Amino acid sequence: AAAKETMQFQTEVNQLLQLMIHSLYSNKEIFLRELLSNASDACDKLRFEALSDPALLEGGSELQVEVDFDPEAHTLTIRDNGIGMNRDEVIANIGTIAKSGTREFFQRLSGDQAKDAQLIGQFGVGFYSAFIVAERVTLNTRRAGMEPQHGVRWESDGTGAYTLETVELPTRGTEIILHIREDERQDLLNSWRLRSIIGKYSDHIPLPIRMRKLGEDGKPSEEWETVNKASALWQRPKAEISDEEYKEFYQHVSHDFGEPLAWVHNRVEGRLEYTSLLYIPARAPFDLWDQKQTHGVKLYVQRVFIMDDAEQLLPRYLRFVRGVIDSSDLPLNVSREILQGNRTIEQMRSGASKRILGLLEEIAEKDPEKYQKFWNEFGRALKEGPGEDFSNREQIAKLLRFASTYSDTELQNVSLADYVGRMKEGQDKIYYITADSFLAAKNSPQLELLRKKGIEVLLLSDRVDEWLTSHLHEFDGKSLVSAAKGDLDLGQTETEEEKKAQEETEKAAEGLVERIQKALGERVEKVRVSHRLTSSPSCIVLGERDMALYMQQLLKQAGH
Ligand code: ADP
Ligand code: MG
Repeated sequence: AAAKETMQFQTEVNQLLQLMIHSLYSNKEIFLRELLSNASDACDKLRFEALSDPALLEGGSELQVEVDFDPEAHTLTIRDNGIGMNRDEVIANIGTIAKSGTREFFQRLSGDQAKDAQLIGQFGVGFYSAFIVAERVTLNTRRAGMEPQHGVRWESDGTGAYTLETVELPTRGTEIILHIREDERQDLLNSWRLRSIIGKYSDHIPLPIRMRKLGEDGKPSEEWETVNKASALWQRPKAEISDEEYKEFYQHVSHDFGEPLAWVHNRVEGRLEYTSLLYIPARAPFDLWDQKQTHGVKLYVQRVFIMDDAEQLLPRYLRFVRGVIDSSDLPLNVSREILQGNRTIEQMRSGASKRILGLLEEIAEKDPEKYQKFWNEFGRALKEGPGEDFSNREQIAKLLRFASTYSDTELQNVSLADYVGRMKEGQDKIYYITADSFLAAKNSPQLELLRKKGIEVLLLSDRVDEWLTSHLHEFDGKSLVSAAKGDLDLGQTETEEEKKAQEETEKAAEGLVERIQKALGERVEKVRVSHRLTSSPSCIVLGERDMALYMQQLLKQAGH
């Protein structure tokens, strides 16, 4: 045999392993869900690759997973005949964490067990969860299409290093052998216990999971049987699916450990036929703000998995949505290139966007508290909507929430409709101010007059707000206006006396204004008497067409 090589885990892997073993112990059976989920993904990938290269199936086209155990050897084995891995893939996938969002995850760890367990769940526990119950893990794998002598064996006890060797493997796919810890053997190496865990987590995986039939003597025999329902959950009638099943399926498709906030399940029939099951997570994944985040909506064609994270299935501002869309109209051999600009995809995308916006509207109406939770996690993504999705602009505008001078707190819970409902008599505009922090917005001198008059102003300080306000110009017939730009027209809110008093002040100050103008020269466009201040002596305002002040600062910082 070829020499065994010892390799070190990436530091992060060690850290994650330690954390996982300690904080997920009370939830230990999830390891089986994770390994079955990986086996199912591996079979999906093989089925897809085999569409263009049928030889990959090597005659055995029934894809399945076997779960087997040996009480004498203290092992539990999970075996799939999916895509398998070559040596490089094993090193890349099993020895390192290449996930986007990894750095942020490690930064957010606090040392508090309960909090960290939740974070690990959000981050995704994956393959390493095997070490919660195993003292040693052996993984044998051979990539589909490769010769038997190119099998790879990976082995580790989960403490710092792993070994790799080349071995001969008669069949393709991946076999994971868990050498169960002594204190777990009694509990886990038991046919009934395993069946119940599999039933709980894997009934909805459309892939047969098989175990040995129990003989007359109650012992595992040489015959095998399928122990899960193996039906694609999204294809079953809604009325027959329990909330529990929806939640479990969510964890499978999203790789999220927590519960979803809400979901919509629909079957569309007619000229276009597809089924969509879409979830809104309760918490944002670590890579939501990462350019190359993965695990979005999965595309299936007639129940055959086609691809993960098909960007074309939903607009970017809805990238937090998880789930599946299964089309009956697309050809089985679709590629990412074909999806680009495909009419069927466009129609499904528009349908899916409407479903999600509709679901959000319903939550906002019926359960404002739940909606607030959603907003706190994903609001900044939704704010990209008006600029990206013209056709749904109005619907998105209704879903937006802001901080405002009404409560003067950072919590974004004011809708544009709330604002309009509180508008002063004679007020015909929606005022906002943008700044690079909430405090800067709140304390902005440009708000003094508005505050004095009791006119509410939206306080915008998310980075995306500048983009939002450059695309959202009105709501309910009222235009959105920056309180920092140009002449602040307060509509009919000023009384005749106020106007008169202002004119008088302007006259009296003419000489002073001229002197200041001279002193500042070219550096300013215009000096004039302002009525928007009540306590600060002066402030800088921008011309109607100028970029907001802080955008200018941003550009300056970036070297422009
Ligand atoms: P995730 O499933 O979220 O990608 P995991 O830690 O569960 O993270 O798995 C890491 C990677 O290892 C997978 O993305 C896959 O490439 C590979 N992998 C794990 N299990 C298998 C398997 N049974 N067959 C083929 N590849 C696998
Ligand atoms: Mg996984």
